[in-house]
Amino acid sequence: MSLGQVNISSEWKDLLRDKQQLESVSWLWHSDYYDGRLSGMIEYGFEERRIGWAKNVYYGDLVCFIDCGQDIDKCDELNHIEWTPRVYAVYALFDEQYDFEAHKHREFEKYVGLHCSYDKDGKPKASSCKTSATHHLFYDKYREAAGLDLSKNEIVGWIWR
Ligand SMILES: [Zn+2]
Repeated sequence: MSLGQVNISSEWKDLLRDKQQLESVSWLWHSDYYDGRLSGMIEYGFEERRIGWAKNVYYGDLVCFIDCGQDIDKCDELNHIEWTPRVYAVYALFDEQYDFEAHKHREFEKYVGLHCSYDKDGKPKASSCKTSATHHLFYDKYREAAGLDLSKNEIVGWIWR
């Protein structure tokens, strides 16, 4: 796919114009999700694997990902919809940003669950979260935390799915 094929905003088109499409991508975890992944940590590159932060900057059309043949509203109710294709800008993180996000994610896994984490084949590590008794140990700590500020980070490329 090329970025010219999708109706991405002119702002993002300009930001990504001279960037490369990153290859051999695997998701480590997602941080935000709404009908698909909105942001998260990825690994990319063949020989020298690098870490990047992916941020969803475009989503395409609503489709049923199991192609069940029902009306799309019904698919929405049954949770088999996604917006595709999705384009993500990928940022290089500063060490302290990576450390913060990785620590936060380890605590999320410990207290909330593994359902936002992926194994080496790209499959979610779990389909559901832990019982809610421990969730507050994560959310009490991070609810007020500022989001990742990417305003000084370099965009190293883009990916899509
Ligand atoms: Zn469906």
